[in-house]
Amino acid sequence: QNMVNMIAAGEVIERPASAVKELMENSIDAGATAVVVTVEDGGRKLISITDNGEGMDRDDLAAAFESHATSKIRDTSDLSGITTLGFRGEALASIASIAHVRAVSRTPQSDQANCIEIDCGDRQSVGPCSGDVGTTIQVRDLFYKTPARRKFLRTANTEMGHITEQFTRIALPKDQLGLTLIHNGRELYRLSGSLALRQRIAQLFPMLEADDLVEASTDEKGIRIRALLGHPSTSRTNNRFQYAFLNGRFIRDKFISHAIKEAYRGLLEPNRFPVVFLFIQMPYDEYDVNVHPTKTEVRFYNSNLVHSQILATMREKLLGTDL
Ligand code: ADP
Ligand code: MG
Repeated sequence: QNMVNMIAAGEVIERPASAVKELMENSIDAGATAVVVTVEDGGRKLISITDNGEGMDRDDLAAAFESHATSKIRDTSDLSGITTLGFRGEALASIASIAHVRAVSRTPQSDQANCIEIDCGDRQSVGPCSGDVGTTIQVRDLFYKTPARRKFLRTANTEMGHITEQFTRIALPKDQLGLTLIHNGRELYRLSGSLALRQRIAQLFPMLEADDLVEASTDEKGIRIRALLGHPSTSRTNNRFQYAFLNGRFIRDKFISHAIKEAYRGLLEPNRFPVVFLFIQMPYDEYDVNVHPTKTEVRFYNSNLVHSQILATMREKLLGTDL
């Protein structure tokens, strides 16, 4: 059992940022409106996530760390049309198999929190403790019992860069969610849940002129698109500032990248990449997210339609704007 979890862990948890992603996604799936992410030493020493979501009762808390313990899918027919960010039920089990984990959780119905501690898969205790409604999960010393894996961790700075990127990918499409990121006691981001998307972009990317992004939106053929587009003169030498989200999930997709390139055709110098933020909403049963454990790849059932809608939305705006 432990071995199976450790193998599974290799797929999902490769570095601190992967744990941050999985834990933040769980907080969102639990309906949290505020999430605080605290890390030390680039997440190598500590990752701690506190949310004000629906919490877990004692039994759910104990079950959450079992392999394939998901409360989000009941049978395989649920696999088409997944509306939650998580669904594999292996993240917590994987994380708990490779670190020291302490979780505290309380449901709104309960006046008592429960607490569980697991050390590299060995359950140490579960029982009542004090805590607010919601969940806190602390992950200490990732990979400390597997030196071969720990060796692959990079410097605190590099690992922190990956964590910040994951934080950003989750924060961008969830502009109603209050989010804080603290590293070694220093607050890196405090994002309010009541600001406009453009302000969230400005907070996350102080180096971009968020006010100058051109906005386009369409809602046709079942696909709702909102795009914030950088002026061609603000293009970059790489695609670091191209973000696409599908129903609130960060995705990488070759059809989308191609549509972006096409939309800017003739407007950019060679080998330049525009700044683009794309938010796509479409029915959950028109694509498959169960392609890869990290879920950043999707398979559209009608990729041509997705491509043409994105291209049309962007192209029309770009050509209609005084560039
Ligand atoms: P998945 O998200 O794929 O269901 P996880 O291993 O990430 O699997 O989580 C297992 C289960 O633990 C979830 O299905 C959920 O019921 C519960 N859970 C995890 N994190 C939280 C949280 N922050 N608040 C409430 N419940 C949680
Ligand atoms: Mg999950």
